[in-house]
Amino acid sequence: MSTSERPPSGPARAEPTRRQLESRHGVYGRRYLIEPAPDHKLPESGMSAEEAKGLIEEEIVLDGLPQRNLATFVTTWMEPEAEELIGQTLRVNFIDHAEYPQSAEIEQRCIRMLADLFHAPGETTGARTQGSSEAIMLGALSLKWKWRARREAAGKPVERPNLVFGGDVHVVWEKFCRYFDVEPRIVPLQPDKYTIGPEDVEPHVDENTIGVAAVLGTTFTGHADDIRGINDRLVELKHERGLDVPLHVDGASGGFVWPFLYPDSEWDFRLEQVRSINVSGHKFGLVYPGIGWLIFREKDDLPEELVFYENYLGKTDATFTLNFSTGASMVLAQYYNFVRLGRGGYRYVMEMMRLNAHNLCREITATGEFELIGSDEEQLPLVAFKLSDGHPYDEFDVAAQLAAERGWMVPAYTLPPNAEHVKIMRVLVRGTLGATMIGKLGEDIAEACKTLAAKGGVHPAERKRRVKTNTGF
Ligand SMILES: *Cc1c(COP(=O)(O)O)cnc(C)c1O
Repeated sequence: MSTSERPPSGPARAEPTRRQLESRHGVYGRRYLIEPAPDHKLPESGMSAEEAKGLIEEEIVLDGLPQRNLATFVTTWMEPEAEELIGQTLRVNFIDHAEYPQSAEIEQRCIRMLADLFHAPGETTGARTQGSSEAIMLGALSLKWKWRARREAAGKPVERPNLVFGGDVHVVWEKFCRYFDVEPRIVPLQPDKYTIGPEDVEPHVDENTIGVAAVLGTTFTGHADDIRGINDRLVELKHERGLDVPLHVDGASGGFVWPFLYPDSEWDFRLEQVRSINVSGHKFGLVYPGIGWLIFREKDDLPEELVFYENYLGKTDATFTLNFSTGASMVLAQYYNFVRLGRGGYRYVMEMMRLNAHNLCREITATGEFELIGSDEEQLPLVAFKLSDGHPYDEFDVAAQLAAERGWMVPAYTLPPNAEHVKIMRVLVRGTLGATMIGKLGEDIAEACKTLAAKGGVHPAERKRRVKTNTGF
């Protein structure tokens, strides 16, 4: 009998039971190496701090890497000094204005600086919010209240308010209409026009219109509605038909881009009908998520009935928010960026991102597979592109292939009606996507196309298995 034929010697050593391993994990390992993480009930007893941290850290490794998330508009990098400041102030509840008066003062400074950046004609007011969504809810509520007051003063009915905006807006505008009982009048896009202008808006405006919302930097292609044109038409309507319809600009992304890249382009309070503007501090304001801003043209644009005065902890405080308690960190981080960067710094960052976006445009064009979407127009620092005709695969396939080959998260999506047949891919060129990475990304996009071409397309079953991604906001 050769050695290899010999039966295993002796009885197999019994595998230790889970209980036996458990008795040792205190010394060598930890409980959740052999047990799933608690996910239904609060565990009866806890675990060490180290173990709790490890448990969570191990799991979130499965999340994408923020630097490779080219879908998001939201900040994924701040300077270490800013991070320190954020860490130091996590314990401060921003709403306790009386206890933390300097944080409240710093919020006011940010509001004044933004009002100045947006060319407010004089002293005005505004609010710190959780993001543009809360800012839009508050801004649109102000439009509704103001409209109702005008109607009541004129003895007219107030039952059927409507709001006019394009199909290119963020979902939050429809959300506002549903939550706060306003009829949405949505101007559809066109097969080859992905923003709206005055001729689109006018037919929808009437005496029940609480306002028109226009976007500066859409989430779909990064372009702006014709805000100037819409403003001018609304001014004409005021003189011709006595309809004074306010304009709100959704500058969630564009509010921090246009002032630096296109300072002569008028979209803000330089235009007569623009009464309020929202901007996300956590997008091109370059702060980590949870900060947005609402800025009014004049103090009077904020209806007094929406401000709550309360006697809290012994002092009278005025609030105009949907949320109450929240951290002060991001307000302070916004102010940090304002004083750290100033106008010159923001201009540098925006110009650097635009340059990189143009370089990426060149890379993408050089593959010979794609068409760029409006890269020669005023646009956010991003590249929106689609496949030229005649490919056996589509944009969703390219996105999936890029993710599989290199882990890039580049979204593919279809446009809103009536351009829903148009499929687009989009890369946000944020500060973390430098020249080397742009070159790599260009190569990887070309490589993904080659792989797909060699396969002759993608099997429907493979498409079905894919995890759905959203467009990323
Ligand atoms: C991101 C975005 C929003 C929503 O803003 P949040 O800050 O994420 O709440 C609204 N409108 C536009 C145009 C956006 O890009």
